Amino acid sequence: MNREEIVNGLIEGKIKLYQVEKYTSSANEAVDIRREFIEKFSSSSLDKIADYTLDMEKASKKNIENPIGTIQIPIGVAGPLKVNGKYCNREVYLPLATSEGALVASINRGCSSITLAGGVNTNIISDKMTRAPVIKAKSASGAIEVKNWIENNFDELKSLAETTTNHGKLIKIDPILIVGSYVYPRFVYSTGDSMGMNMVTIATEKILEKLENENDAIHIALSGNVCVDKKPASINMIEGRGKSVTADIIIPEDIVKTKLKTTASSIVEVNIAKNLIGSASAGSMAFNAHYANMIGAIFLATGQDVAHVVEGSLGITTAEDRNGDLYFSVNLPDLPIATVGGGTSLETANEGLQILGVSGSNKVLEFAEIVAGCVLAGELSLVSALSAGHLARAHKELGRE
Ligand code: NAP
Repeated sequence: MNREEIVNGLIEGKIKLYQVEKYTSSANEAVDIRREFIEKFSSSSLDKIADYTLDMEKASKKNIENPIGTIQIPIGVAGPLKVNGKYCNREVYLPLATSEGALVASINRGCSSITLAGGVNTNIISDKMTRAPVIKAKSASGAIEVKNWIENNFDELKSLAETTTNHGKLIKIDPILIVGSYVYPRFVYSTGDSMGMNMVTIATEKILEKLENENDAIHIALSGNVCVDKKPASINMIEGRGKSVTADIIIPEDIVKTKLKTTASSIVEVNIAKNLIGSASAGSMAFNAHYANMIGAIFLATGQDVAHVVEGSLGITTAEDRNGDLYFSVNLPDLPIATVGGGTSLETANEGLQILGVSGSNKVLEFAEIVAGCVLAGELSLVSALSAGHLARAHKELGRE
């Protein structure tokens, strides 16, 4: 079949979108033909989407179905950011992909105050990935029997799960929730440098085979939403998911005044009134100004699963006035990230990881500390700008210095 016949086959519905590769000799040719069909269907010209450098042969095997090209998002850098962590102890430049003007400039301002103050301190609190299927027993009593069986067989279930992966380790199964006849065991794994969702799904599936063989119960869904994947959830905030990371800093009074153009007490008031009271009044789960901005930009630049921005956006910002100096912290309980697997091997994303020096194995905790530092830089900058505005207004209204 020649190109025109394949396009016509698509238009007439005789060929499905996913069947184009069957008639072509390369992934790039399939991409071109599928795009030509979409151009005809939508009367559009997709010259820019057509202009890409990614290895589509590789990408179409594990990252994308029915590809027609790529989308481009500008990438900027902010920095240097001095990170004083256990895994990252150096200056970095942050790759940030965004179409939101002013975001990179704002993070850059945060970086410069932080680096001038000696750097941001970062700590990893925990490192785990979860999968919680929903299992149906005959009754609540039956559900309790399943829970007991899971608890009594932990060692065997751990060995079984770990036959499916070289890097995944089952740490615990906790909590095991029961609602009526349903059981929701939350399987908690460490997943090396991968984000781990595929890894823990495959490992948990193996456990469920045995569970169904040995219990009067069936699994209704491999994910029962207690995981909780790609949705904001209290359990993730309390128990942690992905990397749980914190970043904090003390910024001397003179830097708060000269670089951030505000005062510690003003920043504290904005943080309490906005991030704490405002968020609580609105029923928000994220007690911060805009973690999602930094998480989204660094995730796009480094090939992370962007749906996890919703989890990374959770967390609480704290600020204290310490005799004019500012103590400021960001707390990220739910940060699913990777330096291996998923989108991290796509060429442009991998270059993003290379800018940070965190591509590949034994790098993910270093990356987590950098992400936390980046979030603190952006958060500090915005809260300071708001507080400077507040201060400016107060000056005007009250006629004070
Ligand atoms: P993955 O690419 O499926 O798995 C990681 C792979 O890298 C494994 O084969 C692992 O080997 C290997 N590996 C090599 N070096 C490693 C190291 N140092 N640390 C860890 N693994 C290493 O990635 P994943 O992180 O499990 O899953 C990410 C993908 O899952 C994303 O594309 C995301 O979109 C998708 N996702 C899936 C679900 C789902 O429910 N399935 C949900 C959300 C997202 P071993 O297996 O031998 O350890």
